[in-house]
Amino acid sequence: MDYTKKFLLSEQDMPRQWYNIAADMPVKPLPMLNPETRQPVTADELSVLFSREASLQELNMTDRFIDIPNEVLDLYKIWRCTPLVRAYGLEKALDTPAHIYFKNESVSPVGSHKLNSSIPQAFYCKAEGTTNVTTETGAGQWGTALSYAGKAFGLEVAVYMVKVSFEQKPYRRNIMQSYGATVIASPSMSTRAGREIITKYPNYAGSLGTAISEAVELARTTPEKCKYCLGSTMSHVSLHQTIIGLEAEKQMELAGEYPDIVVACFGGGSNFSGIAFPFMRHSFADPSLKTRFIAAEPSSCPKITRGVFQYDFGDQKGYTPLIPMFTLGHAFAPASIHAGGLRYHGAGSIVSQLAKDGWIEGADVDQLEAFDAALQFARAEAIIPAPESSHAIAVAIREALKCKRDGVKKTILFNLSGHGLMDMASYDRYLSGDLKNSPLTDDELHTSIDSLEKII
Ligand SMILES: *Cc1c(COP(=O)(O)O)cnc(C)c1O
Repeated sequence: MDYTKKFLLSEQDMPRQWYNIAADMPVKPLPMLNPETRQPVTADELSVLFSREASLQELNMTDRFIDIPNEVLDLYKIWRCTPLVRAYGLEKALDTPAHIYFKNESVSPVGSHKLNSSIPQAFYCKAEGTTNVTTETGAGQWGTALSYAGKAFGLEVAVYMVKVSFEQKPYRRNIMQSYGATVIASPSMSTRAGREIITKYPNYAGSLGTAISEAVELARTTPEKCKYCLGSTMSHVSLHQTIIGLEAEKQMELAGEYPDIVVACFGGGSNFSGIAFPFMRHSFADPSLKTRFIAAEPSSCPKITRGVFQYDFGDQKGYTPLIPMFTLGHAFAPASIHAGGLRYHGAGSIVSQLAKDGWIEGADVDQLEAFDAALQFARAEAIIPAPESSHAIAVAIREALKCKRDGVKKTILFNLSGHGLMDMASYDRYLSGDLKNSPLTDDELHTSIDSLEKII
């Protein structure tokens, strides 16, 4: 009994500012480019799509800390601060000398970290006079998060949901509808981007890239009234997510430890950025800190480990600015794995630059290893993790087992980005033995990458 399982912060301890890593990066990210002019994008151009404030945050390379609006803090209070948990049960099950901690973002009402960014994005849209917001969603978490946040500020919400998830996860759709949002399966016939893809590939299962194209097209047709909100990849999203790591930093202090390894699963990089960046700033300042930052990606969508670093579009149609990113090519169609939130072809510009400069390592995890890890975690810690988060757990387990083999004690911190209670259809397939790995061959990889136009 005389040990602490959860390290908790009070509401008064909640960080009042987000951390903007761009201000501290040893090498700044290359600018995003306007695809037509090939010039760096401006806040004016970005704010055709995004709120003005999000656009300014996107390009902010100087302010280390950015105030969180009071209205946002009020809604964060619904579930923040989230617990930092010492995974004693998992440590015991693995018989490892490692100390394993996880930041439990699954306690948010929508079950994932995504409300951290949907709330400020919706707030800025409302404050600037927008009436509608639109977005895409993969596994459903982002759409759910924006549905709640948009409605909390009195906005109309339209969500394009990747078709494979729309079919596999009807309850997610129901949650969005319960919050009052309109949900459309993507590719859909309601946009030009959707119609073109359906004509070419009638059975296409959809991807985040296509869904983004559809939502962007909708926002572009009515820019004064409707804004687009993105749940990952963009720098302002990573900024909002840093509340995870800022809290975790205080909580690790309460625990009297500092992480040797920080792990998070990696879709577009937002929850990874959220937990990693506040710790990484200490690594920039103190070269003796050897903290490793590991991005856990699915081996069927491995942009950090096997992608190329170059300018590419964030969506399939080429509507977004050109982003300097680790990418598999914007036309890449990932296998229909069950971690839908990780089926994205590229990484954001900041994480990409940091990976290029050696601050971040990638680790690829097969679908079956992720589910094995998920069950091991569930049996030890009682939480059913999201299939996405299970990739981080798998890497944390790998590292803990290395500690055991080498007889060294390391402190491992991973982000539990969400719970899996809405993903039981995936667990059902895993438990009944019909889930397979979806390895990506070099040929498939190069077909996609080689079709990329070399811009710089
Ligand atoms: C969306 C999502 C992810 C992937 O997105 P990132 O931007 O890479 O964080 C991971 N885990 C969960 C639970 C998600 O909902």
